[in-house]
Amino acid sequence: MAVKKDYYEVLGVPRNASQKEIEEAYRRLAVQYHPDRHPPEKKEEMREKFKEISEAYAVLSDPNKRKQYDMYGHAGIDSSYTQEDIFSGVDFGSIFQDIGFGSVFDDIFDFFGVRQTKKGPQRGDDIEIPLTITLEEAFKGVEKPLSFYHTVSCQACKGTGAKLGTSKKMCPKCKGTGYVGYTRGFFSFKETCPRCRGQGQVVDIPCEKCGGHGKVKQQENIVVKIPAGVDNGTSIRIKGKGEAGIDGGSSGDLYVSIRISPHPIFTRQGDDLVCKIEIPYPIAVLGGEVEVPTIDGSKVKMAIPQGTQQNKVFRLKNKGMPDLHTGRRGDLYVEVSIHVPSKLNERQKNALREYAKTLGLDI
Ligand SMILES: [Zn+2]
Ligand SMILES: [Zn+2]
Repeated sequence: MAVKKDYYEVLGVPRNASQKEIEEAYRRLAVQYHPDRHPPEKKEEMREKFKEISEAYAVLSDPNKRKQYDMYGHAGIDSSYTQEDIFSGVDFGSIFQDIGFGSVFDDIFDFFGVRQTKKGPQRGDDIEIPLTITLEEAFKGVEKPLSFYHTVSCQACKGTGAKLGTSKKMCPKCKGTGYVGYTRGFFSFKETCPRCRGQGQVVDIPCEKCGGHGKVKQQENIVVKIPAGVDNGTSIRIKGKGEAGIDGGSSGDLYVSIRISPHPIFTRQGDDLVCKIEIPYPIAVLGGEVEVPTIDGSKVKMAIPQGTQQNKVFRLKNKGMPDLHTGRRGDLYVEVSIHVPSKLNERQKNALREYAKTLGLDI
Protein backbone atom coordinates (compact mmCIF):
# COMPACT_ATOMS: atom_id res chain seq x y z
CA MET A 1 0.00 0.00 0.00
CA ALA A 2 1.19 3.51 -0.81
CA VAL A 3 2.43 5.75 1.98
CA LYS A 4 -0.47 7.71 3.37
CA LYS A 5 -0.29 11.45 2.97
CA ASP A 6 -0.44 13.78 5.94
CA TYR A 7 -4.07 14.70 6.64
CA TYR A 8 -3.27 18.39 7.03
CA GLU A 9 -1.45 18.37 3.72
CA VAL A 10 -4.36 16.58 2.07
CA LEU A 11 -6.73 19.36 3.14
CA GLY A 12 -4.12 22.08 2.61
CA VAL A 13 -4.52 23.56 6.10
CA PRO A 14 -1.91 24.44 8.76
CA ARG A 15 -1.51 22.16 11.77
CA ASN A 16 -3.14 24.75 14.02
CA ALA A 17 -6.15 25.20 11.72
CA SER A 18 -9.47 25.88 13.43
CA GLN A 19 -12.48 23.57 12.99
CA LYS A 20 -13.99 26.21 10.75
CA GLU A 21 -10.92 26.33 8.51
CA ILE A 22 -10.88 22.55 8.27
CA GLU A 23 -14.51 22.40 7.31
CA GLU A 24 -14.12 25.16 4.75
CA ALA A 25 -11.10 23.47 3.19
CA TYR A 26 -13.03 20.21 2.95
CA ARG A 27 -16.06 21.81 1.37
CA ARG A 28 -13.88 23.55 -1.19
CA LEU A 29 -11.99 20.36 -2.11
CA ALA A 30 -15.14 18.28 -2.14
CA VAL A 31 -16.65 20.54 -4.77
CA GLN A 32 -13.39 20.41 -6.75
CA TYR A 33 -13.06 16.63 -6.66
CA HIS A 34 -16.67 15.64 -6.92
CA PRO A 35 -16.56 12.74 -9.42
CA ASP A 36 -19.74 13.87 -11.14
CA ARG A 37 -18.06 17.11 -12.13
CA HIS A 38 -15.37 15.42 -14.16
CA PRO A 39 -15.33 13.52 -17.46
CA PRO A 40 -15.81 9.75 -17.16
CA GLU A 41 -12.10 8.91 -17.62
CA LYS A 42 -11.24 11.12 -14.64
CA LYS A 43 -13.93 9.76 -12.36
CA GLU A 44 -11.93 6.96 -10.81
CA GLU A 45 -9.06 9.31 -9.99
CA MET A 46 -11.42 11.91 -8.54
CA ARG A 47 -13.19 9.26 -6.49
CA GLU A 48 -9.86 8.29 -4.94
CA LYS A 49 -9.09 11.92 -4.17
CA PHE A 50 -12.52 12.28 -2.71
CA LYS A 51 -11.96 9.34 -0.42
CA GLU A 52 -8.62 10.78 0.63
CA ILE A 53 -10.01 14.20 1.60
CA SER A 54 -13.06 12.65 3.27
CA GLU A 55 -10.91 10.49 5.50
CA ALA A 56 -8.69 13.47 6.36
CA TYR A 57 -11.76 15.49 7.21
CA ALA A 58 -13.31 12.67 9.25
CA VAL A 59 -10.22 12.54 11.45
CA LEU A 60 -9.39 16.24 11.74
CA SER A 61 -12.97 17.32 12.40
CA ASP A 62 -13.18 15.04 15.44
CA PRO A 63 -11.24 16.51 18.40
CA ASN A 64 -10.35 13.09 19.86
CA LYS A 65 -9.22 11.56 16.58
CA ARG A 66 -7.32 14.72 15.73
CA LYS A 67 -5.49 14.62 19.04
CA GLN A 68 -4.60 10.99 18.45
CA TYR A 69 -3.36 11.81 14.98
CA ASP A 70 -1.35 14.84 16.15
CA MET A 71 0.45 12.72 18.74
CA TYR A 72 0.99 9.46 16.88
CA GLY A 73 0.30 10.14 13.21
CA HIS A 74 -1.39 7.57 11.00
CA ALA A 75 -0.24 4.77 13.27
CA GLY A 76 -2.22 6.36 16.11
CA ILE A 77 -5.37 6.36 14.06
CA ASP A 78 -4.93 2.96 12.46
CA SER A 79 -4.26 1.26 15.78
CA SER A 80 -7.21 2.85 17.55
CA TYR A 81 -9.92 3.01 14.92
CA THR A 82 -11.34 0.77 12.21
CA GLN A 83 -12.28 2.38 8.91
CA GLU A 84 -15.85 2.27 10.09
CA ASP A 85 -14.95 4.09 13.32
CA ILE A 86 -13.08 6.78 11.43
CA PHE A 87 -16.24 7.73 9.59
CA SER A 88 -18.72 7.20 12.37
CA GLY A 89 -20.13 10.33 13.90
CA VAL A 90 -19.11 12.54 10.98
CA ASP A 91 -22.14 14.27 9.61
CA PHE A 92 -21.32 14.56 5.91
CA GLY A 93 -25.00 14.78 5.13
CA SER A 94 -25.54 18.16 6.71
CA ILE A 95 -22.49 19.61 4.96
CA PHE A 96 -23.73 18.72 1.53
CA GLN A 97 -27.45 18.53 1.95
CA ASP A 98 -28.17 21.34 -0.49
CA ILE A 99 -25.62 20.36 -3.15
CA GLY A 100 -27.02 16.90 -3.78
CA PHE A 101 -23.84 15.00 -3.00
CA GLY A 102 -25.64 11.85 -1.91
CA SER A 103 -24.54 9.28 -4.45
CA VAL A 104 -20.82 9.89 -4.14
CA PHE A 105 -20.96 9.27 -0.42
CA ASP A 106 -22.67 5.97 -0.96
CA ASP A 107 -19.71 5.02 -3.15
CA ILE A 108 -17.20 6.04 -0.51
CA PHE A 109 -18.94 4.18 2.24
CA ASP A 110 -19.22 1.14 0.01
CA PHE A 111 -15.48 1.30 -0.57
CA PHE A 112 -14.69 1.38 3.10
CA GLY A 113 -17.21 -1.31 3.77
CA VAL A 114 -19.13 1.16 5.86
CA ARG A 115 -22.82 1.44 5.27
CA GLN A 116 -24.89 4.15 6.76
CA THR A 117 -28.38 3.04 7.58
CA LYS A 118 -30.58 3.80 4.65
CA LYS A 119 -33.83 4.36 6.40
CA GLY A 120 -35.67 7.49 5.53
CA PRO A 121 -35.54 9.64 2.40
CA GLN A 122 -33.09 8.78 -0.36
CA ARG A 123 -32.00 10.99 -3.20
CA GLY A 124 -33.07 9.85 -6.68
CA ASP A 125 -30.68 8.67 -9.38
CA ASP A 126 -29.06 11.00 -11.87
CA ILE A 127 -29.90 10.73 -15.56
CA GLU A 128 -27.55 11.32 -18.47
CA ILE A 129 -28.90 12.30 -21.87
CA PRO A 130 -26.70 12.95 -24.92
CA LEU A 131 -27.45 16.01 -27.03
CA THR A 132 -25.85 16.68 -30.41
CA ILE A 133 -25.25 20.24 -31.58
CA THR A 134 -23.35 21.82 -34.47
CA LEU A 135 -19.95 23.45 -34.18
CA GLU A 136 -21.58 26.83 -34.92
CA GLU A 137 -23.93 26.31 -31.96
CA ALA A 138 -20.99 25.37 -29.76
CA PHE A 139 -19.28 28.57 -30.91
CA LYS A 140 -22.18 30.90 -30.14
CA GLY A 141 -23.95 29.06 -27.37
CA VAL A 142 -27.52 27.92 -27.92
CA GLU A 143 -30.77 27.07 -26.21
CA LYS A 144 -32.13 23.65 -27.13
CA PRO A 145 -35.47 22.11 -26.31
CA LEU A 146 -35.14 18.68 -24.74
CA SER A 147 -37.90 16.19 -24.18
CA PHE A 148 -37.37 13.16 -21.96
CA TYR A 149 -39.02 10.85 -19.49
CA HIS A 150 -38.16 10.66 -15.83
CA THR A 151 -39.87 9.68 -12.63
CA VAL A 152 -41.37 12.24 -10.31
CA SER A 153 -42.63 11.80 -6.80
CA CYS A 154 -46.25 10.58 -6.77
CA GLN A 155 -48.56 13.40 -5.76
CA ALA A 156 -51.30 11.11 -4.48
CA CYS A 157 -49.19 9.48 -1.76
CA LYS A 158 -46.52 12.17 -1.40
CA GLY A 159 -43.93 9.70 -2.62
CA THR A 160 -44.39 7.15 0.14
CA GLY A 161 -46.13 4.54 -2.03
CA ALA A 162 -48.62 3.86 0.75
CA LYS A 163 -52.27 4.58 0.12
CA LEU A 164 -53.16 7.94 1.63
CA GLY A 165 -54.18 7.53 5.26
CA THR A 166 -52.31 4.22 5.64
CA SER A 167 -48.77 3.75 6.86
CA LYS A 168 -45.94 1.44 6.01
CA LYS A 169 -45.20 -1.70 7.97
CA MET A 170 -41.95 -3.27 9.10
CA CYS A 171 -40.20 -5.21 6.33
CA PRO A 172 -40.79 -8.92 7.08
CA LYS A 173 -37.59 -10.00 5.27
CA CYS A 174 -35.06 -7.95 7.25
CA LYS A 175 -37.22 -7.27 10.31
CA GLY A 176 -36.78 -3.55 9.82
CA THR A 177 -32.99 -3.48 9.84
CA GLY A 178 -32.62 -2.78 6.12
CA TYR A 179 -29.97 -5.52 5.80
CA VAL A 180 -29.91 -9.22 5.21
CA GLY A 181 -26.95 -11.46 6.01
CA TYR A 182 -25.54 -14.28 3.92
CA THR A 183 -22.53 -16.56 4.16
CA ARG A 184 -19.86 -17.39 1.60
CA GLY A 185 -17.46 -20.05 2.82
CA PHE A 186 -16.05 -18.86 6.11
CA PHE A 187 -17.20 -15.29 5.65
CA SER A 188 -20.47 -13.69 6.38
CA PHE A 189 -21.66 -10.60 4.60
CA LYS A 190 -24.38 -8.07 5.02
CA GLU A 191 -26.20 -6.61 2.08
CA THR A 192 -29.01 -4.18 1.55
CA CYS A 193 -32.35 -5.93 1.90
CA PRO A 194 -33.71 -6.55 -1.61
CA ARG A 195 -37.31 -6.53 -0.44
CA CYS A 196 -37.36 -3.03 1.07
CA ARG A 197 -34.13 -1.79 -0.59
CA GLY A 198 -32.69 -0.89 2.78
CA GLN A 199 -35.69 1.10 3.93
CA GLY A 200 -36.64 -1.33 6.69
CA GLN A 201 -40.26 -0.70 5.84
CA VAL A 202 -42.58 -1.87 3.10
CA VAL A 203 -45.88 -0.58 1.80
CA ASP A 204 -48.88 -2.30 3.35
CA ILE A 205 -51.71 -0.98 1.16
CA PRO A 206 -50.25 0.41 -2.04
CA CYS A 207 -51.23 3.80 -3.45
CA GLU A 208 -53.48 3.24 -6.46
CA LYS A 209 -51.91 5.92 -8.61
CA CYS A 210 -48.29 4.69 -8.45
CA GLY A 211 -48.89 1.06 -7.47
CA GLY A 212 -46.81 1.48 -4.34
CA HIS A 213 -43.65 2.74 -6.06
CA GLY A 214 -44.06 6.26 -4.73
CA LYS A 215 -43.14 7.65 -8.12
CA VAL A 216 -44.67 7.96 -11.55
CA LYS A 217 -43.11 8.30 -14.98
CA GLN A 218 -43.65 11.61 -16.66
CA GLN A 219 -42.56 13.42 -19.78
CA GLU A 220 -40.61 16.59 -19.22
CA ASN A 221 -39.99 19.33 -21.76
CA ILE A 222 -37.22 21.71 -20.90
CA VAL A 223 -34.94 24.18 -22.62
CA VAL A 224 -31.25 23.52 -22.08
CA LYS A 225 -28.99 26.54 -22.06
CA ILE A 226 -25.72 25.53 -23.68
CA PRO A 227 -22.92 28.03 -23.11
CA ALA A 228 -20.49 29.09 -25.84
CA GLY A 229 -17.31 27.02 -25.93
CA VAL A 230 -18.68 23.59 -25.02
CA ASP A 231 -16.82 20.62 -26.47
CA ASN A 232 -17.52 16.93 -26.97
CA GLY A 233 -18.14 15.42 -23.56
CA THR A 234 -19.03 18.67 -21.79
CA SER A 235 -21.71 17.81 -19.27
CA ILE A 236 -24.38 20.32 -18.29
CA ARG A 237 -26.03 19.66 -14.96
CA ILE A 238 -29.69 20.48 -14.47
CA LYS A 239 -30.56 20.16 -10.84
CA GLY A 240 -33.55 18.11 -9.77
CA LYS A 241 -34.46 16.78 -13.23
CA GLY A 242 -33.21 13.24 -12.60
CA GLU A 243 -35.21 10.39 -11.13
CA ALA A 244 -37.49 10.93 -8.16
CA GLY A 245 -36.12 10.28 -4.67
CA ILE A 246 -37.46 7.63 -2.35
CA ASP A 247 -39.71 8.48 0.57
CA GLY A 248 -39.68 12.20 -0.05
CA GLY A 249 -35.95 12.36 -0.83
CA SER A 250 -34.86 14.98 -3.37
CA SER A 251 -34.73 14.13 -7.06
CA GLY A 252 -31.45 13.31 -8.78
CA ASP A 253 -29.97 15.59 -11.41
CA LEU A 254 -30.05 15.53 -15.18
CA TYR A 255 -26.71 15.63 -16.98
CA VAL A 256 -26.90 16.71 -20.59
CA SER A 257 -23.85 15.31 -22.31
CA ILE A 258 -22.82 17.38 -25.31
CA ARG A 259 -21.76 15.84 -28.62
CA ILE A 260 -20.67 18.01 -31.52
CA SER A 261 -21.38 16.83 -35.04
CA PRO A 262 -18.47 16.87 -37.51
CA HIS A 263 -18.15 20.13 -39.46
CA PRO A 264 -17.67 20.18 -43.26
CA ILE A 265 -14.96 22.86 -43.09
CA PHE A 266 -13.47 23.05 -39.62
CA THR A 267 -11.92 20.50 -37.32
CA ARG A 268 -11.39 21.41 -33.72
CA GLN A 269 -8.27 21.00 -31.62
CA GLY A 270 -9.10 22.26 -28.16
CA ASP A 271 -9.98 25.91 -28.65
CA ASP A 272 -8.21 26.09 -32.02
CA LEU A 273 -9.79 25.36 -35.37
CA VAL A 274 -8.14 23.96 -38.48
CA CYS A 275 -9.32 24.32 -42.07
CA LYS A 276 -7.96 23.72 -45.55
CA ILE A 277 -8.39 26.10 -48.46
CA GLU A 278 -7.32 26.07 -52.06
CA ILE A 279 -5.47 29.03 -53.48
CA PRO A 280 -4.88 29.82 -57.18
CA TYR A 281 -1.45 28.92 -58.52
CA PRO A 282 -0.56 32.54 -59.54
CA ILE A 283 -1.29 33.81 -56.01
CA ALA A 284 0.93 31.12 -54.51
CA VAL A 285 3.72 32.22 -56.84
CA LEU A 286 3.29 35.98 -56.88
CA GLY A 287 1.62 36.52 -53.50
CA GLY A 288 -1.74 38.18 -52.90
CA GLU A 289 -4.81 37.95 -50.76
CA VAL A 290 -7.43 35.24 -50.34
CA GLU A 291 -10.67 34.93 -48.40
CA VAL A 292 -10.91 32.46 -45.55
CA PRO A 293 -14.20 31.25 -44.01
CA THR A 294 -14.53 31.61 -40.24
CA ILE A 295 -16.74 29.89 -37.69
CA ASP A 296 -18.84 33.02 -37.09
CA GLY A 297 -19.98 32.83 -40.73
CA SER A 298 -17.99 35.82 -42.00
CA LYS A 299 -14.99 35.71 -44.29
CA VAL A 300 -11.67 37.31 -43.50
CA LYS A 301 -8.88 38.31 -45.85
CA MET A 302 -5.57 36.54 -45.45
CA ALA A 303 -2.31 37.64 -47.05
CA ILE A 304 -0.42 35.00 -49.04
CA PRO A 305 3.27 35.80 -49.34
CA GLN A 306 5.18 35.35 -52.55
CA GLY A 307 6.39 31.80 -53.17
CA THR A 308 3.97 30.07 -50.82
CA GLN A 309 4.45 26.31 -50.96
CA GLN A 310 1.93 23.51 -50.94
CA ASN A 311 0.47 22.65 -47.45
CA LYS A 312 1.85 25.78 -45.80
CA VAL A 313 -0.09 26.54 -42.61
CA PHE A 314 -1.02 30.08 -41.61
CA ARG A 315 -2.39 31.18 -38.26
CA LEU A 316 -5.25 33.65 -37.86
CA LYS A 317 -5.22 34.78 -34.24
CA ASN A 318 -8.43 34.75 -32.17
CA LYS A 319 -10.50 33.19 -34.93
CA GLY A 320 -10.96 29.87 -33.12
CA MET A 321 -13.48 28.69 -30.51
CA PRO A 322 -14.11 30.56 -27.26
CA ASP A 323 -12.88 29.00 -24.04
CA LEU A 324 -15.86 27.71 -22.03
CA HIS A 325 -14.78 29.55 -18.89
CA THR A 326 -12.87 32.65 -19.98
CA GLY A 327 -14.44 33.25 -23.39
CA ARG A 328 -10.94 33.83 -24.80
CA ARG A 329 -10.80 32.65 -28.37
CA GLY A 330 -8.34 30.19 -29.81
CA ASP A 331 -6.76 30.55 -33.24
CA LEU A 332 -7.65 29.39 -36.73
CA TYR A 333 -4.98 27.43 -38.58
CA VAL A 334 -5.37 27.58 -42.34
CA GLU A 335 -3.60 25.01 -44.48
CA VAL A 336 -3.32 26.02 -48.12
CA SER A 337 -3.24 23.71 -51.10
CA ILE A 338 -2.40 25.04 -54.52
CA HIS A 339 -5.11 24.61 -57.07
CA VAL A 340 -4.13 23.05 -60.37
CA PRO A 341 -6.75 23.97 -62.98
CA SER A 342 -8.14 21.08 -65.02
CA LYS A 343 -9.67 23.24 -67.74
CA LEU A 344 -7.94 26.13 -69.45
CA ASN A 345 -8.99 28.07 -72.53
CA GLU A 346 -6.61 28.61 -75.47
CA ARG A 347 -5.46 32.01 -74.26
CA GLN A 348 -4.59 30.67 -70.84
CA LYS A 349 -2.82 27.65 -72.33
CA ASN A 350 -0.74 29.91 -74.55
CA ALA A 351 0.21 32.11 -71.63
CA LEU A 352 1.36 29.05 -69.74
CA ARG A 353 3.31 27.75 -72.76
CA GLU A 354 5.09 31.09 -72.96
CA TYR A 355 6.03 30.69 -69.31
CA ALA A 356 7.17 27.10 -69.94
CA LYS A 357 9.45 28.26 -72.75
CA THR A 358 11.28 30.56 -70.34
CA LEU A 359 12.10 27.44 -68.35
CA GLY A 360 13.40 25.73 -71.48
CA LEU A 361 10.42 23.38 -71.58
CA ASP A 362 8.88 22.50 -74.93
CA ILE A 363 5.15 21.78 -74.38
ZN1 LIG B 1 -48.55 7.07 -5.05
ZN1 LIG C 1 -36.17 -5.30 4.29
